[in-house]
Amino acid sequence: MATKLPSPPRVGMVSLGCPKNLVDSERILTQLRADGYQMSADYAGADVVLVNTCGFLDSAKEESLEAIGEAIAENGRVIVTGCMGKEAEVIRARFPQVLAVTGAHQYEQVVEAVHEAAPANLSPYIDLIPDAGLKLTPRHYSYLKISEGCNHRCSFCIIPSLRGDLASRRPDAILREAEKLVAAGTKELLVISQDTSAYGVDLRHASWPLKSGGEVRAHMTDLARELGRIAPWVRLHYVYPYPHVDQVIPLMAEGLVLPYLDIPFQHAAPSVLKRMKRPANDAKVLSRIHRWREICPDIAIRSTFVVGFPGETEEDFQYLLDWLDEAQLDRVGAFRFEPVEGAAANDLSDPVPEAVKEERYARIMETTAAISAAKLAAKVGRTLPVIIDAVDQEGGATGRSQADAPEIDGEVFLRDAGHLAVGDIVKVVIEDADEHDLYGVPLPA
Ligand code: SF4
Repeated sequence: MATKLPSPPRVGMVSLGCPKNLVDSERILTQLRADGYQMSADYAGADVVLVNTCGFLDSAKEESLEAIGEAIAENGRVIVTGCMGKEAEVIRARFPQVLAVTGAHQYEQVVEAVHEAAPANLSPYIDLIPDAGLKLTPRHYSYLKISEGCNHRCSFCIIPSLRGDLASRRPDAILREAEKLVAAGTKELLVISQDTSAYGVDLRHASWPLKSGGEVRAHMTDLARELGRIAPWVRLHYVYPYPHVDQVIPLMAEGLVLPYLDIPFQHAAPSVLKRMKRPANDAKVLSRIHRWREICPDIAIRSTFVVGFPGETEEDFQYLLDWLDEAQLDRVGAFRFEPVEGAAANDLSDPVPEAVKEERYARIMETTAAISAAKLAAKVGRTLPVIIDAVDQEGGATGRSQADAPEIDGEVFLRDAGHLAVGDIVKVVIEDADEHDLYGVPLPA
């Protein structure tokens, strides 16, 4: 039986006022899209409507109140944000039924209000943010979505039919959003999209002028370089190993972009990849991984793999294990194949029995855990930069090294770290390691 996916909640937006307000609306919608929401062009199709108000002049306030009234009449489920949020009592007196009122630039609060009014059900089949990431992203790291949709047609995936072909955002808009995020306290940008390496293909890699002078091309390498100039840490997710990915490795060696690549390989055996219709996995990938490590020895490569895909033989699976032994990936997530309603792979012959899937899953986890443990053990004694995610009452702190993305990778547990604050990036001496995590102590400032 194919897994049926819940439809994502839809948000309507009415944006009033100045260009600054429009940027706020854009930012809120980007976050909501990254959280698994879809936009609705009309009141009728929306599960909740956001009204981003202007309160600059009395006439603008009246216009804002009228817009709230219209949204309530047409839809009924309304959240108010923007400059008029300062006058929450005026709004509530006239429209007691509004679900929430938040002020200008209170992105977290407005996004949280939407999560409460219309909870999103994140699905690992279509969403880019890990399940746990649905809680409000703390200010010190932010997901930055650079495009929507995908030009590929992998046989197990329904994203292109749900989200359409690749549609890249303009690079200047992405950089503007990155600057705002960093000004608001973000230290780490997590670049996400269905296919980050393909960014800008639909825009024919055109160039846009930058406010600061110069221009930026709609291309992954250029965007990564510019983002690296804006944020202390920039992490690239969902990168397919197209040839031009080689060009971002020097940026990692220079320290502009984190030495981290999240490449969803999904499999290694040629016959399985062919049935999966996967892009860009060819026999040369292994030699390219070796070359990347020569240029940037600290590069951490994370990936996900599917076991038990229809037609996967024991030989194919063993090929994958041998490939992993050779590739020595730093972080690996594995999934047992499950049909998803609407995916072409559901019609493939030779399904793998559940018991075989389980057995292969256990074997891949064992292989990759051993690789991870050895790689982490080799870090003991080194001093590594760590970003702090939480500080506890007992003098400890939890953070992540450059090799760890939030929620999906490992952590670094620190002792004698009570003086640190969330978002600090500090040097840590690594004292111990296990299969997934590191343990250490911060160097004195
Ligand atoms: S690359 Fe394949 S798996 Fe990824 S979104 Fe596109 S079609 Fe789906």
